[in-house]
Amino acid sequence: MKFRIYNNNFNYDQTNEIYTNVIRMIRVVMKIRTRQKWNEWKEKILDILYPQHIKCIFCGEELNEKAINDTCEKCFKELPFLEHICSRCGGPIGDNNDGICQNCKANNFYFTLARSVFAYNDQLVAVIHKYKYGDKRYLYEPLGRFMCDYFSTWEISPDMITSIPLHKAKEKSRGYNQSKLLAEFISKKFSIPYYDLCEKVVNNVSQTELDLHKRKQNVKDVYEFDKNYKSTIKDKIILLIDDIFTTGSTTSEMSRILKKAGAREIYVLTLAHGLGDNREAFSQEKHNKEKSLNES
Ligand SMILES: [Zn+2]
Ligand SMILES: [Zn+2]
Repeated sequence: MKFRIYNNNFNYDQTNEIYTNVIRMIRVVMKIRTRQKWNEWKEKILDILYPQHIKCIFCGEELNEKAINDTCEKCFKELPFLEHICSRCGGPIGDNNDGICQNCKANNFYFTLARSVFAYNDQLVAVIHKYKYGDKRYLYEPLGRFMCDYFSTWEISPDMITSIPLHKAKEKSRGYNQSKLLAEFISKKFSIPYYDLCEKVVNNVSQTELDLHKRKQNVKDVYEFDKNYKSTIKDKIILLIDDIFTTGSTTSEMSRILKKAGAREIYVLTLAHGLGDNREAFSQEKHNKEKSLNES
């Protein structure tokens, strides 16, 4: 007998069992199909919301389990972490020197010390441009994590964190302040309060195209301290966050204003340090490092 449910010895329990199994099978098939569909959708949604968890932030290749901080293995190996640095500004300095770079010898910076995670080489130029000008706001998270890793090894204890402000018009057109997003990320990770201590009151021309002298002039009197924080910053140690340290003009000017307003010390942390005159020193240092790695 093929279908027991139709025979005369009708058994309710058996019929019920068959129905239950059929329904179970349908459910399993549906589940597999919806799961496949869901996975497809999930990838699409994640790609829109969190592309950083899928593709390398530097080269755009799909990430695998060897990725570190949304960076593929190959790009991570190439990252220009700074090692031999100027003890003052944290820029690349090479091997043969007294520990202070020419830029620091020629300038009296208002911050106590500055440090950067990376040298601003082509790899960093590309990712920071994407972050600042390519509307890739989400990059604050992986880039901020690199900064957090550095900060956790830096033996300073700031009371608060702030960032270099953008002029309101610029922030509106960009949609966000890239330095503030990084600063807020670090603030949350280390439970150090974040304040917008200054405002940018003059929409000056970008520093990018200017030489050192013009840069200094260009940032003069463009920032204004928010007087509501007068008692908050009195005698406090402040960590100032920016994306790129180029000549130090911007961070030094902000430090001057904060110190004038009563802060005790300013430390600067940036994602990348411009190579400027140190390009050669950095390339030489990288070359020596690669050579010693190959020899060992
Ligand atoms: Zn990559
Ligand atoms: Zn220096």
